[in-house]
Amino acid sequence: MTDSYDAVVVGAGPNGLAAAIVLARAGRSVLLIEARPTVGGGTRSAELTLPGFVHDVCSAIHPLGVASPFLRGLPLAEHGLEWVFPEVAVAHPFDDGPPVLLERSIEATAAGLGGDAAAYRGRVSPLVEAAERLLPDLLAPPWPPPRHPWLVARFGLMALRSARGAATSLFRGERARGFFAGLAAHAVLPLESPFTASFGYMFSLLGHAYGWPLARGGSQKIADALASYLRSLGGEIETGRRVRDLRELPSARAVLLDLTPRQVLRIAGTRLSRGYRRALERFRYGPGSFKLDMALAGPIPWKAGECARAATVHLGATLDEISASERAVHADAISERPYVIVAQQSLFDASRAPQGRHTAWAYCHVPHASTADAAPLIEAQIERFAPGFRDLVLARSATTPAGFEARNENYVGGDIAGGSAAFPQLLFRPTFRLPPYATPDPGLYICSSSTPPGAGVHGMCGHLAARVALRRVLA
Ligand SMILES: Cc1cc2nc3c(=O)[nH]c(=O)nc-3n(C[C@H](O)[C@H](O)[C@H](O)COP(=O)(O)OP(=O)(O)OC[C@H]3O[C@@H](n4cnc5c(N)ncnc54)[C@H](O)[C@@H]3O)c2cc1C
Repeated sequence: MTDSYDAVVVGAGPNGLAAAIVLARAGRSVLLIEARPTVGGGTRSAELTLPGFVHDVCSAIHPLGVASPFLRGLPLAEHGLEWVFPEVAVAHPFDDGPPVLLERSIEATAAGLGGDAAAYRGRVSPLVEAAERLLPDLLAPPWPPPRHPWLVARFGLMALRSARGAATSLFRGERARGFFAGLAAHAVLPLESPFTASFGYMFSLLGHAYGWPLARGGSQKIADALASYLRSLGGEIETGRRVRDLRELPSARAVLLDLTPRQVLRIAGTRLSRGYRRALERFRYGPGSFKLDMALAGPIPWKAGECARAATVHLGATLDEISASERAVHADAISERPYVIVAQQSLFDASRAPQGRHTAWAYCHVPHASTADAAPLIEAQIERFAPGFRDLVLARSATTPAGFEARNENYVGGDIAGGSAAFPQLLFRPTFRLPPYATPDPGLYICSSSTPPGAGVHGMCGHLAARVALRRVLA
């Protein structure tokens, strides 16, 4: 380590790693500093329950990872990353009858939607055909203007609706409506809010065009591959060092922060103008999450056996039930039947558990900083769709909103999305400034999921922020 770099990046989440890679590839000297003993941020794995059980501490399923225009261009396979693609992206079970399955084939997916098949096909097919052109524009800030303005405008017209509005006007049946609600509820917003339809369309598009894969060996492998590639480019990484004040850092022409506004305010101090500080103080955080990781004696015994074809299962059945769950969270309550996202990685990756054993990863949204124990509610939801599940649990590890924040300061109040995705913050984050990554200090940038395009393991925030820094001060 030296005492002077072209750039220092604080925080080794996927965006911090991405930013450092962009800078190192451009031939700049880079130091990446991480508070925890390991790199990864929201992309980590650990033995949270019993020896031999590998759990994804945060992210588990990576449609945005394989679709990311940035990550796809990196030689991550050479650095140990192998994506595993389940046949089915998402299973959405009901109390009775077969689940809806989001398959790679639009036709096969539509076939599970009965009378709504044609409506689904008609809406989703043009998006999937345009995916390669559309995605780079959608995973970017609204300005500079998109490369394919007509495609984005067409997507935008559909996307600006609420998920409830889109689901009820497009579909007649409960199955299609519930399925769409399950995809849209990743927004962590009431499904009556504008722009929540965008999440429904985005996640179905990703399922058809790219798949919803997991990383063999655990999500930590994604971070490890990024770190290994960064080192191969000459980038340096220092772990186990929490930055408390930017003045502690070695001198650098650019500092990029993989942090949300609250930590930026805390450590950047006097480097921020008063107006910009005020703007960051207005940044809004969203609800928290409550997560259960479980070691299981066998696979989850789904009533609808087809659920075992997907690594991701959305629990909540109907549009009304899922929207009630998301509304409750925003009214400071937890629904008796919360919308639960389940991942069952070990069905597709034997390295996750000892032979014959399995892992389960499940979480629901809860009010910001909630201290409630949502474990019984999550377990009851799984049991409802998979009777006998509880008897298989060998050990469990629960993470509360405070637990998330203790592991990673970015998860303020348990908000795992780097801030609310409510409009306008969905598009303009962390403030209304353009480019959003720049601060008034030409040497200081924000590159976390609190910038566009927001949450997810795609590295786009880091990639785009680093490009701005290169253009402005590292040319
Ligand atoms: C339970 C859960 C489930 C999720 N599921 C998925 C999923 O399935 N798929 C998906 O795509 N995304 C998922 N996500 C979201 C995804 O993990 C995040 O959007 C992503 O990790 C954000 O990346 P980031 O680089 O912006 O920040 P982070 O990943 O939060 O990384 C920030 C890093 O900065 C470090 N840091 C913080 N403060 C300091 C400091 N002062 N000094 C030094 N270092 C510091 C932190 O330790 C951390 O390593 C999930 C998240 C959670 C928590």
